[in-house]
Amino acid sequence: MAARSIIEPFRIKSVEPIRMTTREERERYLAEAAYNAFLLRAEHVLIDLLTDSGTGAMSSEQWASIMRGDESYAGATSFYHFEAVIHDVFGFRYVLPTHQGRAAERILFSTMCKPGDVVPNNTHFDTTRANIEYVGARAVDLPIPQGRQPATPHPFKGNMDVAALEALIADVGAARVPLVMLTITNNSGGGQPVSMANVKAVHGICRHHGIPLYIDACRFAENCWFIRQREAGYEDRSPREIARELFGYADGCTMSAKKDGLVNIGGFLASNDETLARAESRLLILTEGFPTYGGLAGRDLEAMATGLQEVLHEDYLRYRIASTGYLGRRLTEIGVPIVQPPGGHAIYIDAAAMLAHVPARMFPGQALVAELYLAGGIRAVEIGSVMFGTTDLQTGEEATAPMELVRLAIPRRVYTQSHIDYVCEIVEDIFVQRSQIRGLRMVWQAPPLRHFTARFER
Ligand SMILES: *Cc1c(COP(=O)(O)O)cnc(C)c1O
Repeated sequence: MAARSIIEPFRIKSVEPIRMTTREERERYLAEAAYNAFLLRAEHVLIDLLTDSGTGAMSSEQWASIMRGDESYAGATSFYHFEAVIHDVFGFRYVLPTHQGRAAERILFSTMCKPGDVVPNNTHFDTTRANIEYVGARAVDLPIPQGRQPATPHPFKGNMDVAALEALIADVGAARVPLVMLTITNNSGGGQPVSMANVKAVHGICRHHGIPLYIDACRFAENCWFIRQREAGYEDRSPREIARELFGYADGCTMSAKKDGLVNIGGFLASNDETLARAESRLLILTEGFPTYGGLAGRDLEAMATGLQEVLHEDYLRYRIASTGYLGRRLTEIGVPIVQPPGGHAIYIDAAAMLAHVPARMFPGQALVAELYLAGGIRAVEIGSVMFGTTDLQTGEEATAPMELVRLAIPRRVYTQSHIDYVCEIVEDIFVQRSQIRGLRMVWQAPPLRHFTARFER
């Protein structure tokens, strides 16, 4: 009989202790941090689910790659190694290494966009939107309707609404749309995948209008695994083959390798357009570095080259998606309302539904984040009215966000199943006593991006 359990496909060679704290200590630390988890010291956190960005564990092969890094200023061997992996995995001819995703975004949008342009995406990530707006263009989100409904399941909830894309292009004119983007998986929409059929449909529209299609590729491997699991015709294809087909429909991509690059820092911008790549190189040299290192050390390029291949291993992806699904399934069994179905890198608790007695202006998501830390030393992040709401500084009136979510992001290859079981037990305790949870008052803020520094009182 074959075993049914999907286990961590690695054993542990180096360990990093995490420190238990008492409830009294956590009360003090959180009060000192003004009830904002971003202001906590990491050493006071037991299980850190703040983000999956740059928080993963590298493999022994990646650490070996670090030693092979060629630190030559120009023409480093590590660059050619990295470039060969990009050609092989993504198929793009020109690649510019950047220190992380947002640097690739800044270079791309500064080169391709002008004021008054419109850039559609299934859902823009916040740095993507900010970089588009910075050059005077407009970032438009076009998710399918199910993408905005937390409780509605859909196999490819990250898809773009292609009818809305056609309508937008007809409305503003193709000349004002310098590129279309697809974010895989759709991070801000709950880590939900985009289907190959949707990528093809968007590609078809873009080609018809002569508009380049770019992929925000941060979690491309997780997206490819969902395609293999859920889309007819892909069940026997390898993640690498699926990735090559998917990127074959695109003209370029940006990537934060801090996600599916399995590294702690790094990113890149890639395309097939020589003229464009030349213009982008000029900007790269201005602010990032010479084109064969672009703001990274040679060793970082080596670690990325190895990580981008490891992330496509079937055992890894099976474990990765199953472990996120496990947390989602256990929380659902307890009765905790989450965004359905579970995404690739995180579980999103619907705090508005769970804490229905706390009004949005008293930040139910932030109150739940505080409770997770107090009860179990777990750090999560609010994605609701703290992050996306605004205060009218004249009247003090709060404009609240459409959803009040709390994200539990899972770092890659870092926590074991017993860590996740612990998280489930803490959430269950909180869920049972949820009627006693009180809201928070924001007493200080510094917009924009106020969530990083806002201060609260109970
Ligand atoms: C993280 C992320 C980015 C930005 O990357 P950084 O490395 O944080 O600059 C862009 N898009 C998506 C979808 C992301 O998740």
